[in-house]
Parts: sequence; structure tokens; C-alpha cells
Amino acid sequence: MNAHTPTTADSLIATEQELGAHNYKPIDVVLTKGEGVWVWDTDGTKYLDCLSAYSAVNQGHCHPRILEAMIAQAQRLTLTSRAFRNDQLAPFYEELAALTGSHKILPMNSGAEAVESAIKAVRKWGYEVRGVAENQAEIIVCSNNFHGRTIGVVGFSTDPTARSNFGPFAPGFKVVPFGDLTAFEAAITPNTVGFLVEPIQGEAGVLIPPQGYFPAVRKLCTENGITLILDEIQTGLGRTGRLLAESHEEIEADVTLIGKALSGGFYPVSAVLSNTEVLGVLQPGQHGSTFGGNPLACAIARAALKVLVEEGMIENSAEMGAYFMERLREIRSNKVHEVRGRGLMLAVELHPEAGGARRYCEALRRKGVLAKDTHETTIRIAPPLVINSDQVDWAVEQFEAVLGGVEI
Ligand SMILES: *Cc1c(COP(=O)(O)O)cnc(C)c1O
Repeated sequence: MNAHTPTTADSLIATEQELGAHNYKPIDVVLTKGEGVWVWDTDGTKYLDCLSAYSAVNQGHCHPRILEAMIAQAQRLTLTSRAFRNDQLAPFYEELAALTGSHKILPMNSGAEAVESAIKAVRKWGYEVRGVAENQAEIIVCSNNFHGRTIGVVGFSTDPTARSNFGPFAPGFKVVPFGDLTAFEAAITPNTVGFLVEPIQGEAGVLIPPQGYFPAVRKLCTENGITLILDEIQTGLGRTGRLLAESHEEIEADVTLIGKALSGGFYPVSAVLSNTEVLGVLQPGQHGSTFGGNPLACAIARAALKVLVEEGMIENSAEMGAYFMERLREIRSNKVHEVRGRGLMLAVELHPEAGGARRYCEALRRKGVLAKDTHETTIRIAPPLVINSDQVDWAVEQFEAVLGGVEI
């Protein structure tokens, strides 16, 4: 063994603490291997992954077909920059467009970059197509939003932890409560060019808007010439039991943002999808990214999309999600306020008196289930979309042990 390789979880954690910025507070499990819904720590203990890297690993850990595509492409060509063309970009566009019905695609890397890119394109569209006066474009966003961590994006966050002392921020954003149609309508001005919103607010705790909200939003956007930008970076690609969460609402966004599972967790790949009008405003030199659209990313994303569809993961998400929710709702517990979700995007909402979601996530970890708390009282459950009913049953047993009457 290499002399520089620390051997225990404790020493790895100590090194992280010493050398890394402390911008995360992870559950102290040091993972070393993954396969499907399972991950293993440095002691060889096996866990069911109920987070899926915030839905980036929808296809399951180390999916063999994605891995194979990655290795094959990495041996051929990895990066050309967009100064030259590569032979993976066109088929990536074609396959993604065919799957989503989009007419134009902008490839990027991280989710936050896709969000930033959409904001740039929609503002430009506002000036050049809608005729909004210079620097007057407004974009409406929702309270409790999560769209990433860049300066532009945290500037319109309503989470004090995400934005305190990072200012000054870019102007041009208006915040309205999520799910409140009246507030949205009241915020619209002649300068409103876009509405950026998550179909289901994930980081906020899996918040599902009231029935009818999105169809009415869609109508208002169309009537007022507002680009509806749906951030499906977390909800998209099968997580909610449909390819895109918008289809639960029977609407179509003008601009859709995807990322995370677009690579099945192998590599950062994101994309802005739109009609021709919005992304059509970008001319050479006006936007770009060294790694965006690189052949390795494209080959990985092509395989990630292929397995998602061909292996029935989206249907499985719908079926297993409904089953998981039903089973969780059967748990008799005075700690649980509500179980909610769509597809395999689930949350157990605890009563405030239960003592915080974090301690239950720590207890679940001891039972072999990795789940993540969010917003004090919510346990988020989002396993890879390849989970089967035996694995759901086993997971529910662990939730029952932790949340049931027994004191922990
Ligand atoms: C994760 C996420 C992002 C940001 O993606 P990164 O790849 O972390 O930059 C944006 N929007 C939503 C809804 C997300 O869940």
C-alpha cells in the first residue's frame, strides 16, 4: 500500500477537516465503492443509497454500460474545446432533442452553469426579441428556490446561509412565494422576460405546488411573453416517474435545464434545452465553456440517456416511488407529520418535536441506509431509479426501526 494512503475513515476525515474548506457537513461515512443502489464504506459496510448524489446517480452507481462508453471514449478523444468540432456532439444533440422534443441545446457542465446560461440567453432574448429597454429585464424566481451556488444564482436565493456576506448581487430578479399564482401575476411587469422555477422544490424539502398552479403559470407566461424556465436539474430524467416533471402538470416549458443524472454520475454534464427563439439569440463569442460539449461528456451523456430509457428506469421510478410512498405511509410513528413525493423523489416530514431530521439520518446510517436531512425536519429519500421492491421493503424496515415507537 502506498505510504501516503491513509487507511482508516478517521484519518481520511481528519485530513478533510484539516485541508478542505468546511463548506459541507457530511454524514461521516467514507465511501469507497458503489454498485446499483448500494455503496460500501472503507470498513466494507454496505449501505442502500437513498440520496443518489442529489439525483445525479439515477441510473445506479457505476452503471456498466455508461462505464463502458466512458472508457471507450476516454481512450479515443476527451477534449477538443469548441474551437474545433468533435464527432460526439451532433449525436448527443440529436438523441437529446429526440427524447425531449427540444429544438436547440446548449451543452454546459454543472447545473449552476446551465442556470446562469439560461439567464443570459433569456435576458438577451428579452432585449433583442421582446424589445425590453437596455438593462431593464426582470426575471421572477420563487422563495426557497435552489438553483446552484454561483454569485448570480445565490443573489436571488432566499436562504440566508446561501447568500449572507456574498454580496453585492446582480439586480433584475424578483422573488415570489412558490405555488402562489396571485403573487406571480402581481409581480409581472412589461419588463418581465422570464420565470425561473423548479417543478418540485427539492432542496426546500420536496415541496409540490398546488394542483393547477403550473398550468395557470404556463398560461400567464404565454399571455405576457414570458419565457418559462423550468429547472429540472433534480426533478428531470426520471426522478419523478416521468422523463421530465413538467409532464405531470401537462405543460411544456420554453426553456428546460437538466444536469445531474444527464451523466449518470460519471462526469459533470448539463444542458439548456429550448425552442429556437431563445437559444437562437446566442452568436459566436457571446457565451461558452472550455469543457461544455466535450466528446467525453457527450459520449457519457448519450449512454446515460440510453440506459435510462432502454432499461425502463423511468417506469420503475413511477412504480417503485408509488410503492415506497405507500409503505412509508404505513409506518405508525408519532414523529412523522407527513410522507410526500412524486416518483422516487420522496420526503418524510417530521414533527418539530421529533428533534430534527439529522439524528434520524445518523440512525438510518447505523441501520445501513444513507439518507439526507434537509431544512431541519425533512428526511429526503431519493434512491437510484433501479431500486426493486425487495430493496424498498428492506429500506422501509429500517425507516420503521428508526422512526417507529422505539426510542433511539
Ligand atoms: C443541484 C441543483 C442545481 C445545481 O447543480 P450543480 O451541478 O450543483 O451546480 C441547480 N438546480 C437544482 C434544482 C438542483 O437540484
